[in-house]
Amino acid sequence: MEVCAVRRIAVVGAGQAGLQVGLGLLGAGGYEVTVVAARRPEEVRGGRVMSTQAMFGPALRVERAAGLDLWEGEAPGVRSVDAVLVPEPGVRALEFTMTMDEPAQSVDQRLKMARWLELVEERGGRVEYRELDLAGLRELAAANDLTVVAAGRGELAGIFERDAARSPFDAPQRRLAALYAHGVGAPDPAAGPRARMHAVPGVGELYLQPALTLSGRCDILLWEALPGSPFDCFDDRPGAVEQLERMRELMARYLPWEAELWAGAEPTDPGGSLCGALTPVVRRPVAELGDGIAVLGIGDAVVVNDPITGQGANGAALAADACLRAIVERGDGPFTAAWMTGVFEEFWERHARHGVELTAALLTMPDHLQEVFAAAGEHEAVARRLARTYADPADYAEWLATPELAAAYLASVGWSGSVAHP
Ligand SMILES: Cc1cc2nc3c(=O)[nH]c(=O)nc-3n(C[C@H](O)[C@H](O)[C@H](O)COP(=O)(O)OP(=O)(O)OC[C@H]3O[C@@H](n4cnc5c(N)ncnc54)[C@H](O)[C@@H]3O)c2cc1C
Repeated sequence: MEVCAVRRIAVVGAGQAGLQVGLGLLGAGGYEVTVVAARRPEEVRGGRVMSTQAMFGPALRVERAAGLDLWEGEAPGVRSVDAVLVPEPGVRALEFTMTMDEPAQSVDQRLKMARWLELVEERGGRVEYRELDLAGLRELAAANDLTVVAAGRGELAGIFERDAARSPFDAPQRRLAALYAHGVGAPDPAAGPRARMHAVPGVGELYLQPALTLSGRCDILLWEALPGSPFDCFDDRPGAVEQLERMRELMARYLPWEAELWAGAEPTDPGGSLCGALTPVVRRPVAELGDGIAVLGIGDAVVVNDPITGQGANGAALAADACLRAIVERGDGPFTAAWMTGVFEEFWERHARHGVELTAALLTMPDHLQEVFAAAGEHEAVARRLARTYADPADYAEWLATPELAAAYLASVGWSGSVAHP
């Protein structure tokens, strides 16, 4: 009988992508897993929020299948998103509801990653707590059969070369702020958990979603400000309380109906706010470190999207799943640079490129997309398909990628209107 040697796999980064790969390999059996984490679980729980982490049906199904859906009963399941266009301050124009096929969910990554990290050790994996530098990465990779770099947008991602042809932007498209709050009202509390989306052309977008945080249920506001617009006012990183005050003032001017719902709100905790900006980028998935050593990048380490379409954590979850399956299928075969490239390219074509293209389109809103949103205001089928495309961006290529595809689809649902393009 042939006996397979235990394979040693190292994972750098204890986020959505890295922990899912690590825990997946421990579940599969036959792997010696080392996760390198920059922070201990208690530091993660006591730290600042990292994301708004809305996750859609396909990514949640992957977590469920892996037994990692530990908050399923507690986290609100969001079935619909109420969208409002605000063409000028205080004016509600186009309004529609996007109903999702499967509920979306947001579990504070502080809660989720801290617990998943503890699970790695409970399930027999090793965790090394340190911030890995390039020399440390080389050493780690030399000692393992495969090293997966899932270190997010940090410095280490610089080992993966930027892929200019696939990177849609070279600067941040929005200035971001997020706030976790208790006490936010709902327009119709009897309707169950619903997300809300406000687009203020030339100024920015606001996304509100019910979520689960360390202190229970909360609402999370993702604030997407066009650089230089009135919404772009958190560069000084004011802290949760002051950030909420400024947000409330701006909401009172632009979205007074939303400001009313925030009248009694307060931040969930001092770490419940976030400000900054990110440059969307696609990198080459393999870094050669010399002496024949190559490492594979997944998640934000190689594909970074603006959160406007919520593709980051979803993409990281699906990338981790693809990576895990490929490792297991590889059996005793060598983890060569060519194999790594193949794993990424397959995932790029099937999923990642669509997320990047959808996000670029939503950031720039070409005329045909404005038309689709206008049609969604009148046709439930269009709104539903938009919701489906956020959850599975591969559908973008089928109906939104070109003006011709969008026109053909809109004609098929009987839309004959048009929007005035500025
Ligand atoms: C404001 C905001 C809102 C967002 N909202 C959404 C959303 O609603 N939906 C969605 O799907 N996505 C969203 N995202 C994106 C999402 O959070 C990320 O895409 C996702 O977390 C990426 O997961 P990851 O595992 O690749 O990286 P990360 O979550 O960044 O994890 C990387 C880990 O590696 C660790 N690390 C980094 N460097 C090192 C090192 N040198 N040594 C050891 N460890 C290291 C980090 O500490 C971290 O724990 C949002 C992002 C932002 C900024």
